[in-house]
Amino acid sequence: MNQKVTIFNNLTRSKLPFVPIKEGEVLFYSCGPTTYDFLHVGNARAFVVGDLINRIFKALDYKVTFARNFTDVDDKIINRANELKIDPLKHSAVYIAECEKDMDSLGMLQPDHAPKVSETMPEIIRMIEVLMEKNFAYEVDGEVFFHVPMFKDYGKLSKKKLSELEHGKRVEVDKRKKHSSDFVLWKPAKPGEPSWDSPWSKGRPGWHIECSAMIKKILGDTIDIHHGGVDLMFPHHENEIAQSEAANGRTFVNYWCHHEFLNFGSEKMSKSLGNVVTIRQFIEKFSGEVLRQLLSIVHYRTVMVWSDDAITRAINDVERIHKFMINFEKAKKENLKDDSTSEMTGKFKGIIPKMKKNLASDFNVPGAMALFFSMIRQINREFLDEQGKYEGKNKLGKEMVDVVEEVISFTKLSTGLIHDNPELILNKINEAKKNFSVVEVLFSNEEIEKLVTQRTDARNSKNWALADEIRDKLGSAGITIKDNPDGTVGWSYK
Ligand code: AMP
Ligand code: ZN
Repeated sequence: MNQKVTIFNNLTRSKLPFVPIKEGEVLFYSCGPTTYDFLHVGNARAFVVGDLINRIFKALDYKVTFARNFTDVDDKIINRANELKIDPLKHSAVYIAECEKDMDSLGMLQPDHAPKVSETMPEIIRMIEVLMEKNFAYEVDGEVFFHVPMFKDYGKLSKKKLSELEHGKRVEVDKRKKHSSDFVLWKPAKPGEPSWDSPWSKGRPGWHIECSAMIKKILGDTIDIHHGGVDLMFPHHENEIAQSEAANGRTFVNYWCHHEFLNFGSEKMSKSLGNVVTIRQFIEKFSGEVLRQLLSIVHYRTVMVWSDDAITRAINDVERIHKFMINFEKAKKENLKDDSTSEMTGKFKGIIPKMKKNLASDFNVPGAMALFFSMIRQINREFLDEQGKYEGKNKLGKEMVDVVEEVISFTKLSTGLIHDNPELILNKINEAKKNFSVVEVLFSNEEIEKLVTQRTDARNSKNWALADEIRDKLGSAGITIKDNPDGTVGWSYK
């Protein structure tokens, strides 16, 4: 039996039990990048969230089929390639390769499918033909538009009304469109642009149709989960729904998941605003482990702000995890006894089920990570010593070692953390710290957990004043406590 999962479905704006199309299986698509330059750490959030959803379902014993595309035909790519006087597809291929290097450094699992627009042309053209046949699309001078008013459910994801959309339009509308919200499915190529033959013109597709065509080709008419950033909900995802449901006559996506932005100050980090840190710049300095940690520790539906504080916290966490990995390996050789069960072994046996419960609850990775950190803290205190002296420490039992190793493997599989060599990571971090003023973090994870426990104790003994005081103290350090209906208590950065 697979673990039951609940997902915040953006279609209904509510957390719902996940009911897959096929028992135990997940058809999952995530909108990938447009490849014309190095990608930034905001894009990395999209990759990490997609990878986490893929990993979590795998860790919960589902069979996942995961597709993430590369947009390799696009105005931005063509403009950049023209500036550089090179072939746009070649230019894009260079940055697809660079992107794949970044993904490796971030410990990503390869998706099962990584389709490109340039390799999906017959399916794109076929879908546009079907939309024309069904009168959802029309052609003007070699250009094809989707006629939005024909699709009655338009706006069901973004909750926008067509009447309001028209009313609110301020930009000048293309006179050839029948309705101001109609969007391009196919456009003729200008001289020198990459182009493909079609029934309408030698040209190329509009942006939205690629995902609809790729999903149909690879995963089918209806999929379980579609993911992307909140910026894509409108118009991109709304248009994907219109195209696919109009062409196929079936529900397109059962669950829509959108991750929140990574902001730089109060604005979205984006190439067009020029406020970017590239993934490559960051990983060359600090490592992919640190970036992955930084992006994983905030729940995907919470806005993140890029800051030295967040980087410091991630560095501290990665150091703690990797020092533990080294010291645990050492203690397995130097501080081991033959036996047998201890009270702590029993406790650690409960960690994986608890981690699974967190992960199954709308992909609560920070909650699962808190459990892992709490295990590290207890093992450090009882059994490990960096210097190898083990004075006043207990000895690890073999059964406990097995249990802890299972928790480590589960953490690796489900979160993608600890994907690099611990010594190399620590060396890299030590180097980076020489040129990076590590900011004072108000509370370490361990201190937060201690305070959360103290607050729970205070509440249990009805000491409400103390409980509130602790909540406020954490609140002023940017940490929120969440009392779950099942009695467990979680926390996250605001
Ligand atoms: P793009 O190449 O701009 O289409 O973006 C690829 C993916 O990165 C999409 O899922 C976007 O939503 C996501 N993305 C872009 N910028 C950010 C950001 N600042 N924070 C989070 N996700 C982002
Ligand atoms: Zn898409």
